[in-house]
Amino acid sequence: MKLFKFKGGVKPDPNKTVSTQLPITAAPLVQRYVVPLHQSVGGTPRPIVTVGDHVLKGQRIGEADGWVSAAVHAPTSGRVVEVGPHIIPHPSGLPTDCVVIEADGTDTWIERTPFDMSAATPEAVREYLRDMGIVGMGGAVFPSHVKLSVPKGKSVEQLIINGAECEPFITCDDRLMREQAEEVIQGSALFGKLVQAGKVLIGIEDNKPEAIAAMKAAQAALNAPVEVVTVPTIYPTGGAKELIRVLTGKEVPGSKRSTDFGVQVFNVATVQSAWRAITHGEPLISRIVTISGAVGEARNWSVPIGMPITDLVRLAQPKPDMDGVIMGGPMMGFRVPTTDAPVIKATNSLIVHAPGLFPPKPQELPCIRCGSCATACPQELQPFELYWWSRASKFEQLEKYKLFDCIECGCCDYVCPSHIPLVNYFRFAKSEIQAEARDKKTADAARERFEFREERAEREKREKAERLAKANAARQAAEAAAAAAEAAETPKGDEEAPDISSHPHQASTPIAVDNHPVLDASAKQAAIAAAVERARLKREQHGNKPGSDAA
Ligand code: SF4
Ligand code: SF4
Repeated sequence: MKLFKFKGGVKPDPNKTVSTQLPITAAPLVQRYVVPLHQSVGGTPRPIVTVGDHVLKGQRIGEADGWVSAAVHAPTSGRVVEVGPHIIPHPSGLPTDCVVIEADGTDTWIERTPFDMSAATPEAVREYLRDMGIVGMGGAVFPSHVKLSVPKGKSVEQLIINGAECEPFITCDDRLMREQAEEVIQGSALFGKLVQAGKVLIGIEDNKPEAIAAMKAAQAALNAPVEVVTVPTIYPTGGAKELIRVLTGKEVPGSKRSTDFGVQVFNVATVQSAWRAITHGEPLISRIVTISGAVGEARNWSVPIGMPITDLVRLAQPKPDMDGVIMGGPMMGFRVPTTDAPVIKATNSLIVHAPGLFPPKPQELPCIRCGSCATACPQELQPFELYWWSRASKFEQLEKYKLFDCIECGCCDYVCPSHIPLVNYFRFAKSEIQAEARDKKTADAARERFEFREERAEREKREKAERLAKANAARQAAEAAAAAAEAAETPKGDEEAPDISSHPHQASTPIAVDNHPVLDASAKQAAIAAAVERARLKREQHGNKPGSDAA
């Protein structure tokens, strides 16, 4: 199969062999598990348990909040002792709501029922995967069911299953493919069917010969409609857009989605966990985690989600000079704010940090504009420009230089002769821009609410005035009609009403009676007759005769 190259990239020391020598082992039970509710991109699941509840292993404890969200489940059986904020492994170091479970030690499962695929619609399968908490296990934790929904009018020409695992030290996918190749192949074929992919390509870097052999053997044994493809080892081939480039030759710009180009990408561990959910009725409650770095025994563990990092690291016999833990690899990872934080669905590796293994970086020097960072950047950015404008907090310039296309791969850091921690600058600038955008959104929303209230008050005032005017007009008309009716009912006296129809003014000008609105001709006559009658009666009362001078 023809392969393609992406621009840039680096070749750091892989440091993988040390953690691939032992098979995956299940981590022993611990006393407490801290399960964050928000473990995927999208909405935060709503807790559906309360303090004091007894839960079983695999029981749903948080329900997906909307379509872009995924459920969370109890990693073991026990009692819920708290639902509240705890620090999770995230660069922000901020706490988020977690369900804390005190294990009862029996590790008792819920009843597990395989999902019947035979009559299920693709929508039903997607909903099931959402409720089983299946998310991207390569670190992005995007809910898988959402990525399995192909946008209208689009098709998936190539479905790529990412087994590249290019980051140094990390070997969880390597061991998974060696040990559970059949499940990975089955899951890949299932996803291919769900998105009706033209082709399913499983890309694995050539520094994992055992995994490649196991996967090829499983594919052949199952005669599965997938292809295992060996790709050259160069960092960051495991980046989604880089692997797409290598396998298909397609260039996906930073601002576009791969589905715009007929490609979708999932990690090998994601398809395997989806396969287990469907065939075994097991929700995503554990994952494989590489423990490596400054430890006595580097290896991969199958770890329940929610296990405190400190308990897991202890199993690996950390070196005495340990001074922290990196989640993810040394290129893209970050130091966990506290080892009390739990393992989450995104935790693919924990690298124990110690000065003996990772000596402090030399002092940062000024940029000499050598351009090495731009040559190494797989996104074809100009990191030195981004660095300059990040330092100056010039957000418009950062947009111009496509800061948000940066995948934080660290290639620029790796090659910079001035030892500038470029990615740190970029992360900081991104967070500042996002905070500013959030503030602007809040201010805009407040302004819109104010304008809406003002407009509503104005409209209500206007409507009230219109209602009043209408009521006044109706009342005046009613009064006039009543007066006319009264006049019409009054009996005529012997005094003739003067003939005013021939009066030149009267003939052309409507008469207003007692300031009432203009009346029609018969009403006018009646009103005049009534007035004349009233005048006659008044004169009689005062002894005057018609025609005499009362003065
Ligand atoms: S590699 Fe470092 S010194 Fe060279 S241009 Fe980039 S930021 Fe500047
Ligand atoms: S971290 Fe960003 S700017 Fe640096 S090489 Fe990677 S993509 Fe390019």
